[in-house]
Amino acid sequence: MSDIRVTVWGEFRHEKDSSHESSRVYPDGMHTVIAKNLNAMPGITARTATLDEPEHGLTDQVLAETDVMTWWGHMAHGDVDDRIVEKVVKRVWEGMGIIFLHSAHFSKPFKRLMGTGCDLKWREADEKARMWVVEPGHPIAAGLGNCFELDKEEMYGEHFDIPKPDALVFITWFEGGEVFRSGCCWVRQKGRIFYFQPGHETYPTYYDPTIMKVIGNAVRWTAPRPCADVQYGNFQPLEEIKKK
Ligand code: ZN
Repeated sequence: MSDIRVTVWGEFRHEKDSSHESSRVYPDGMHTVIAKNLNAMPGITARTATLDEPEHGLTDQVLAETDVMTWWGHMAHGDVDDRIVEKVVKRVWEGMGIIFLHSAHFSKPFKRLMGTGCDLKWREADEKARMWVVEPGHPIAAGLGNCFELDKEEMYGEHFDIPKPDALVFITWFEGGEVFRSGCCWVRQKGRIFYFQPGHETYPTYYDPTIMKVIGNAVRWTAPRPCADVQYGNFQPLEEIKKK
């Protein structure tokens, strides 16, 4: 079987700002760390694309050669060209998997695919996060225990303004008391979508093997698989319709 071709999309703005803590945590960008970790997994080949490349690195050819995309954005959601957003959304409908990470909850493609406000509560307080597996039979939870922890993560709290997930794999408890639906799955037409909450830019979250295990599992779960053909628009009857 050929490798799953992943395009790791990164906004890559915070990390280029030398006054920003993320430039020390991820000197070459979060996307490079995510891609390197994915490339170490069997059956996965990852490339990167970033906002400031022509067409945000998402040319028609790159999109056509992408089975699964991961998306991280935060400070520059508005700089993403609507034309590219529509192409990404169309590829999801055609069957491309997509994984939205952390602050990508407010990204244009996520909001477009969800159709809701996608807002949430947040707080940066260096607090502990405990992620509970609430659907242990789901492939994205493969190899995990009951729960796992991050020493420091940004709090995201309910209510998270999303459509009800088709599957909810993780719920996170934060030290300050909030809870959050932190691992959510949807299917839109032929495409599988996963939202995964951890990954604030000033914490070393994407160096964490458990976090990367989840993202690797999610790559495999969102990867395209054989689907039924669909046809829209005017449709000829299969039986003769008797004149009345
Ligand atoms: Zn954040």
